[in-house]
Amino acid sequence: MAAIFFNDKTTQTSVNFDTTKKGADVARALSRRGYQITIPEPVTREILERYHTPAYISAIETGEPLDLAESQNFAWDPHTWTSVTAQTGAMVAAVHAALRDGRAYALASGFHHASRARGGGFCTFNGIAIAAGEALAAGARHVFILDFDAHGGGGTHDIIAGWDHVMHYDMTTATYEAYTPTAPHRRVHVHTAATYLPTVNALLADLDAQVQPGDVVLYNAGMDSYEGCDIGGLTGITSDMLRTRDALVDAWVRRHNLKIAACLAGGYQGKNYPNELLIQLHRESVERICAD
Ligand SMILES: [Zn+2]
Repeated sequence: MAAIFFNDKTTQTSVNFDTTKKGADVARALSRRGYQITIPEPVTREILERYHTPAYISAIETGEPLDLAESQNFAWDPHTWTSVTAQTGAMVAAVHAALRDGRAYALASGFHHASRARGGGFCTFNGIAIAAGEALAAGARHVFILDFDAHGGGGTHDIIAGWDHVMHYDMTTATYEAYTPTAPHRRVHVHTAATYLPTVNALLADLDAQVQPGDVVLYNAGMDSYEGCDIGGLTGITSDMLRTRDALVDAWVRRHNLKIAACLAGGYQGKNYPNELLIQLHRESVERICAD
């Protein structure tokens, strides 16, 4: 059984929002179904300093200056540091587990809009870029980032753009952070629901010739493209299409003998997106990716 990581300290902040709270709901849903949850160590300052500026790290720790400490759009509080280092630590643990065992999932989100020097869009530290860098440091030959969250992962691009051996494929259905990546990285915007799954297939087919067995995939498995999601949803994208998307990614990873570390990414309950459905979609994603 692949490892599933969640640290309940993520919920300690007083910010009451999906990014800070839904991991606990997904962990509970998985526990009820007999899955074991592993508690990861928080990410260390030493690791953070490889990817973020000292001024930004210190702002998150101390709350000073406040505009930088709240650049991800969350109110800073004395538990912010504990929450975000717990959250980011889950992704670091997941990539090491994936390198060792082949697959792992972090019940964590709030990564891909965070750039080197500041946060953005509910993202504080960039667990995706950090996991990519730590995977390379641990001996991975290539890292392929599949960012299928509704929004653009411009923060990830800001950090990884100049690196060798990392490829970032970003598929968006919403315009927030509609950055233009430098080659060879790609951002593909999906305008209609009918082209969503064909775009997934095309991106994966494009990578067929590039991946080699043992390469690492970091999968940002956002559920915010769902048509009922007020933050990122696209009309016509159903829950079944998101399940199929995950099935396509999972089958592709297994076909090429790749290693995968996935995380929850976006997905926001609302009037047309009951929390029950949001947590179910995330749980099913974990169960699929982590299946033996
Ligand atoms: Zn998003």
